Amino acid sequence: MTTQDSYNFKTEVKQLLQILVHSLYKDRDIFLRELISNASDAMTRLHFETLTNRDVLDADAELAIHIEVPEAAEGEPKRIIIKDSGLGMTKDELITNLGTIAQSGAREFLSKLGADETLDPSDVIGQFGVGFYSLFMVAEEVRVISRSYKKRAKAAAWISDGSEKFRVEPADKEDRGTEIQITLKKDAEEFANEWKLKQIVKKHSDFVRYPVYVGDSQEQANRQESLWRKSPSEVEADEYKQFYQQMTMDFEEPVAVVHFRSDAPVNLRALLFVPQKREPGILAARKEPGLMLYSHNVLIDEYNTDLLLNWLSFVDGVVDSEDLSLNVSRETVQSNRIMRQLAKTVKGRALREMKKLAKNEPEKYAGFWTEFGRAFKEGLATDLEAKEDVLPLFRYYSSKSDGKLTSLDEYVAQMPESQEEIYYVLGDSVKSVANSPHLDPFKARDLEVLYWVDPIDPFVSPMLAEYKGKKLRNVDDAGLELPELDETDEVETEDGLPEADFNRVIGRFVTTLGDRVTEVRASKVLKNSPIRLVSPEDETNRDMQRIQRILDQNYEVPKKIVEVNRNHLLIANLYRLIADSPDDKRINLTIEQLYDSALVQEGLHPNPTEMVPRIQQLLELATA
Ligand code: ADP
Ligand code: MG
Repeated sequence: MTTQDSYNFKTEVKQLLQILVHSLYKDRDIFLRELISNASDAMTRLHFETLTNRDVLDADAELAIHIEVPEAAEGEPKRIIIKDSGLGMTKDELITNLGTIAQSGAREFLSKLGADETLDPSDVIGQFGVGFYSLFMVAEEVRVISRSYKKRAKAAAWISDGSEKFRVEPADKEDRGTEIQITLKKDAEEFANEWKLKQIVKKHSDFVRYPVYVGDSQEQANRQESLWRKSPSEVEADEYKQFYQQMTMDFEEPVAVVHFRSDAPVNLRALLFVPQKREPGILAARKEPGLMLYSHNVLIDEYNTDLLLNWLSFVDGVVDSEDLSLNVSRETVQSNRIMRQLAKTVKGRALREMKKLAKNEPEKYAGFWTEFGRAFKEGLATDLEAKEDVLPLFRYYSSKSDGKLTSLDEYVAQMPESQEEIYYVLGDSVKSVANSPHLDPFKARDLEVLYWVDPIDPFVSPMLAEYKGKKLRNVDDAGLELPELDETDEVETEDGLPEADFNRVIGRFVTTLGDRVTEVRASKVLKNSPIRLVSPEDETNRDMQRIQRILDQNYEVPKKIVEVNRNHLLIANLYRLIADSPDDKRINLTIEQLYDSALVQEGLHPNPTEMVPRIQQLLELATA
């Protein structure tokens, strides 16, 4: 039986180590933050284990982190040691967790470096969850000695100098937890300094949940403060930011901070954050959605999802209530009256904060909306009670918003008196709807149209039939009635094709398009576009068609009404062709292409590349 085993690191870890060991970094002190964060995680996991299991090694040991700088003799390399009383690792866990498990963070870090030659690893390393390995920026050799909380497991040591292999061997360790012994590189000896280590703890780990001690000092290096339990008036903006960044390891500042307390109807201390980005970085310390739930300042759930409805899960933070019993378990939470009360308050306050942001800092809010707007749409679609709160928070681009986002309230406020409905156009992108033929009559009347270009918008339309007494109306609605135009602006019919000639063109559309359309008729509104597609009045759930197209589920192109512009040059040319040489290929090709182009503009075409051969054919005829 061997007592000492050697293992190969997983490939991506090997490559990562290669970079970490051999490069020079500016910002090496983050290695300590990573080790402290791992230690803190290990203690939180132990804490949860002991809630249900008292049969753990050293059940009553203090949960704390100790950092030591052992004396080194002249000429000896300098060392630092970081100890925790967390759940520890068995020999097998050391092998997998610290060497052979696939590390997605490592992979992404490497591919980021590979993709951009000019990138300085020290600028980006912090953003990747390469956590543990970052200590190889400062370490010549590392020994991780660990003893699991499982009573029968033996202590083991993991040893590596950052090269291809690591070793694992039995070790002597009586107490539970993990001890990391770092032999510093020559150029990293500055870290063997208690004062410096204390500074680093203050800078990066001040709010860590457990006490961190440096050296023999009885005084904690971190303040380990429950910021949420302080009165909001006593907390500086910068403290919120630090707390947030240490809690989430997000490099950005939060978009919004909500700190509040109440004593009735429930006791509640809460500190909530809205992050800037939807996708947390790979390094993110918070691995799941949910709020940290405390009772009497004791963590009872690290990712509580009962306090926030699904659609609000972008909110992160801490909720602490003395009204909750310490052993509130997941099962009882949902049926718990106090939890319901807490959830209601949390939701109300979070939404109130977003309203405030929207009002006071519209630009910042626009950024938020772009990132999380969908969450509110999901709220509208899934949460009946949310409607009144979220609709005023919706933002859209529009035909008159000039590249900015506008709200339903702003839209309504700018409606001329004669306008009774709120208009929107559905499509794939702002660019494509901006050229939609449907906008012709609205432009002529100077009416604003909202651009509904988020794929989720069609899902939401059934829930958004009305806002503040105004109906919302799709501009492709056949029954649409718009205010009369002034005489001078009226689309002039006398300039267009004579009735009989125009009817021949219509007839040709009918025979060419067949039952792909329900009707072909003259348009009363088109100005710049030759044709448009409108929805038959009896057509139900037309918004669903778009959804099916997006989901790619047995999508059939819906049958529409084709409206033709009798004043358009293209239509006049088409008539001349029909009259002079009715068999000319160009006639049918043009009609087909006009129809396909209209489908694309509507965002209804199943596969626009299918049009390419026809376009080529038309080009050949045009250049002949
Ligand atoms: P992450 O913390 O994102 O999981 P790390 O590279 O920092 O990634 O750590 C890898 C794994 O090693 C952790 O997930 C954990 O299982 C284990 N580990 C690291 N440090 C400790 C520790 N002090 N106590 C127990 N387990 C640890
Ligand atoms: Mg980590």
